[in-house]
Amino acid sequence: MLEDKNKERTSLETLGEFGLIEHLTQHFTTKQPTTIKGIGDDAAVLDFKKKKTVLSTDLLVEGVHFDLSYMPLKHLGYKAVMVNLSDIYAMNAMATQITVSIAVSNRFPLEALEELYAGIQLACTTYGVDMIGGDTTSSKTGMLISVTALGEASEENLAYRSGAKENDLLVVTGDLGGAYMGLQVLEREKEVFKVNPNNQPDLEPYAYIVERQLKPEARKDIVELLAKLKVKPTSMIDISDGLSSEILHLCKNSEVGCALYENKIPLDPTVISTCEEFKMDGTMIALSGGEDYELLFTIDQADFPKIKGNPNLTVIGHMTDKSQGANLVTRAETLIPLKAQGWNSFQTE
Ligand SMILES: [Mg+2]
Repeated sequence: MLEDKNKERTSLETLGEFGLIEHLTQHFTTKQPTTIKGIGDDAAVLDFKKKKTVLSTDLLVEGVHFDLSYMPLKHLGYKAVMVNLSDIYAMNAMATQITVSIAVSNRFPLEALEELYAGIQLACTTYGVDMIGGDTTSSKTGMLISVTALGEASEENLAYRSGAKENDLLVVTGDLGGAYMGLQVLEREKEVFKVNPNNQPDLEPYAYIVERQLKPEARKDIVELLAKLKVKPTSMIDISDGLSSEILHLCKNSEVGCALYENKIPLDPTVISTCEEFKMDGTMIALSGGEDYELLFTIDQADFPKIKGNPNLTVIGHMTDKSQGANLVTRAETLIPLKAQGWNSFQTE
C-alpha cells in the first residue's frame, strides 16, 4: 500500500521538524470554549473553570497494535483518536481536546502522514474535539502514535469503576465481538494475498465487522443519551479488551460479584455467521475478543424503566455479593467463573 508508484512521494527531510508539524496541523481549527491557546506556542492553555478535568493517554506501536498491510493510514489516525475518546466517555465525561505525537521512519513519505492526519482531523471534527498540540520525531523502524485525550465533567456526573452495588443491573451498549471477527477476516485475506496477489478479496459480506475493526466509533452518543434519560451509571468502563476482563475490573474495583447471562450478550448476525465460518464460539469472542469500544456500565434497578426498550442498550446481567464471584450463566443455566482472557500485548506468541 505504501509502495503505490502512482502516488507522489515527498521525503520528510525536505520539511524539517517544525515545518512538518506546521504542515500537518495547518487545517485544524479549535472550537471548544475551554481551549484558550491551542497549537502555536510553547504549551497549550486550557480553562475548565468549575468542571473536573479528565485525562487519558495511549501508545500505539506498529506491529503490536496495528498492521499497515491492511490498515489504511487514514483509518489508523481515526482509530487512534477513537481509542482515547472512548476512555473519556467511559468516565461519563465529554471529550474536549487531544494531543497527538508520532514517531516515523523515513520509509513514510509526507503523503502518508497527510493521510494519517486526515483521519485524525476527521475524528476531531466528527466528535467536536480540538487538537491542541503534539510532537513528531523520527524512528529507526516502524511507526508509533501516542494520543492524549482531555475531557470535562461535573463532579457529580463522573462514573468510576468503583461505584457498582449489589443488585445493580449490568448494561452494555451496541453489540460485541465484531472488531475481533473483522480482524480474523482481514488476517485471512492477508494470507490469501501473500499466496496470490492477483486475488482480490470480496469483503462485502463482512463489511460490518471489517468496519468495526478498521473504523470503530467511540460512544459519545451514549454519554449524551444517559444525560437525556437522567440515568447516572453507578460504575462504567469501556470495552477495549473483551467483556470478561472489563466485568472483572468493575467487580474488583467495586468489590461486588456478577451474574452475566450468556443468552443476553448482544451479537450482530454477521458476527454469528462469521463465527460459524471460522468454527469459533460467539460467546467466547464477545468475552475475550476486544477492541469493540462499547461502554459497559451498571445502573440502579430503579433506573431500569428509563432504559427499557432502548435499542442502544442491553441488560446482560446484574451485580451480586462479592462472595458469589463473577460468573457466566450459560444457556444451559450452569455457572462458569469469568476469567480475564482479554487480549494482552505482552503475551508471547
Ligand atoms: Mg478503558
